[in-house]
Amino acid sequence: MQIKRFFINKLALNVGERHELVKEDYNYIVVVTRARVGDSIIIANNTGYDFLCIIKEITKNTVTIEIKEKLQNNKEAKLNLTVCQALVKGDKFELITQKITELGAAELIPFTSTFTVVKENTNKTERLNKIAEQASAQCGRAKTLKIAEITTLKNLSKLLSNYDLVLLAYEQNKNSLKEVLQNSHSAKSVAIIIGSEGGFSKEEVDYLEKELKNLKTVSLGARILRAETAAIALSAAVMYERGEMS
Ligand code: SAH
Repeated sequence: MQIKRFFINKLALNVGERHELVKEDYNYIVVVTRARVGDSIIIANNTGYDFLCIIKEITKNTVTIEIKEKLQNNKEAKLNLTVCQALVKGDKFELITQKITELGAAELIPFTSTFTVVKENTNKTERLNKIAEQASAQCGRAKTLKIAEITTLKNLSKLLSNYDLVLLAYEQNKNSLKEVLQNSHSAKSVAIIIGSEGGFSKEEVDYLEKELKNLKTVSLGARILRAETAAIALSAAVMYERGEMS
């Protein structure tokens, strides 16, 4: 049986230590996944390492683990992928968070733009972080998706100026995604920008094209995809092209 994995962000772990876990960590490990005394589990804490632990004791509301081994985790993507997503309704944002974490993205930047109907994130950051952590644990990652503060489309031009490549998904564009990706194999950091249900205004596209010298506007094909499909599909296409899916 595969060893169960858990994600406990920001908990410093060192071999030999014992930790008593409570509340949601206890709940997830003991109640949800039914781990028992003597079981081996792996805990990742966003450091890039896996920590092999043994469950030493379980009480009514605590679980004590002992850290046995620190293991290098090699499942992180070599490419640094950031997904900038215009705000969409709650459950879609959760789906995007989960799927891009599985695909290996490093960061999610939510933003507002002219046609975003949702003006503030209906998801609590805490909830999105939990979704990302569980997705990380489930797919074997040792790091989780960083979820940035909500920003504006205008501000993206500042946040993304240092990326090697920025891809703006715009359905009225004719640039071939395939060509753009094939010509950017040296890019170590890639950001993608996806609109909300309402898409982007022409002015917004012009603005980003003018401000970001590293930006390429791309088409995702003849069909108009829903925002969540576009975010997941483009993340997958970038990862595929960079050999992260082989
Ligand atoms: N403006 C459109 C729909 C937006 S789709 C309308 O109202 O009909 C949501 C987002 O997904 C878009 O802003 C874009 O970033 C991305 N997207 C969807 N289909 C796309 C395509 N065929 N090519 C490029 N981007 C696409």
